[in-house]
Amino acid sequence: MKKIFVAAFLLLFSSALFAAPGRATTDSLIVSGDLTATLPKNIVLLIGDGMGLTQISAGLYSNGNQLQLERFPVIGLHKSYAYDDLVTDSASGATAFACGVKTYNAAIGVDKDTLPVVTIAEILKKRGYKTGIVATCSMSHATPASFFAHVASRKMYEEIAAFLPESGLDIFIGGGKKYLEKRTVDNRNIITELEQKGYQVADFAAADLSQVSGKGDTKYGFFTADEEPVSKLEGRDYFMPAVETAYRFLEESSEKGFFLMVESSQIDWGGHANNSDYIISEMIEFDQVIGKVLDWAKEDGETLVIVTADHETGGYAINPGSTMEKIVPGFTTGSHTATLIPVFAFGPGAALFNGIYENSDIFHKMLKALEDASK
Ligand code: MG
Ligand code: ZN
Repeated sequence: MKKIFVAAFLLLFSSALFAAPGRATTDSLIVSGDLTATLPKNIVLLIGDGMGLTQISAGLYSNGNQLQLERFPVIGLHKSYAYDDLVTDSASGATAFACGVKTYNAAIGVDKDTLPVVTIAEILKKRGYKTGIVATCSMSHATPASFFAHVASRKMYEEIAAFLPESGLDIFIGGGKKYLEKRTVDNRNIITELEQKGYQVADFAAADLSQVSGKGDTKYGFFTADEEPVSKLEGRDYFMPAVETAYRFLEESSEKGFFLMVESSQIDWGGHANNSDYIISEMIEFDQVIGKVLDWAKEDGETLVIVTADHETGGYAINPGSTMEKIVPGFTTGSHTATLIPVFAFGPGAALFNGIYENSDIFHKMLKALEDASK
């Protein structure tokens, strides 16, 4: 009797799904995790470098016990370890997200044998998507680099910068201009090469952002520093307008959809410095950016937003004696740790990010969400 009831229920349930207008498959419904959701057209991947649960908690308490991160309906955890080390670095961690492989620490867009692996930005570019990167470090730094470059070591900053003209990126905003024009490994001027490829290259602070248009064929490379951008505490103020510019441009220029990687790079640097105020200020700014992206994604209804970190940094702890107003921090290391890392997902395809999985699975889940969308 019970079996018949279950079978009847399943039949009723599945036929109701098939009958729903505009729904391609039951698979896609499982992916969306929401019977009223459409499927994703765009993906925004936001990476808080070194952002473990304590970094999030300290930001939350220091921000009046609230964060934009609380708006995410789906939360998962990823296993951050590298191919050759339980404690990953940012290069291996970002390569796992960008390329879907576990590799050795220091690897940029290459596998454990140093062979290049195609990145999600490159794959989607080939499929007709627009792509972009915004970071609060230099473009040649490990996290952004892993989405467009393929080199054996993260320290090869100039070699990494030389991948930019061929990257296909439609917009990028970050520091590290010197690696393009004041080179020691060769006499190339990568800025000139970018311009020959149709890029408008400018300093972000001096650029007329109202001229940034997705209507034409122009690509944009904006620099925010000659070397590494300063911290939020030291007055960095470009993160929000940069993400706004990139999102607006990509939305305006893309017909098929877009992929945008946004990195809050310096939560990690606060962790390396064992500086709680540095961590918290970067964390809260990142959260504000996340809130804006959620607003836009909610409005357009077709953007999958994922927030995660590559690893935790500092073995950061909120020690006894702490209050909401004043965190008493502890640190176990000036390096990274191997703790599980939270993943937050919003929008069509978000349900794929529920559960516990490998860091490299994030790459496969992003592609799966888009592939189900194109069925
Ligand atoms: Mg980074
Ligand atoms: Zn680090």
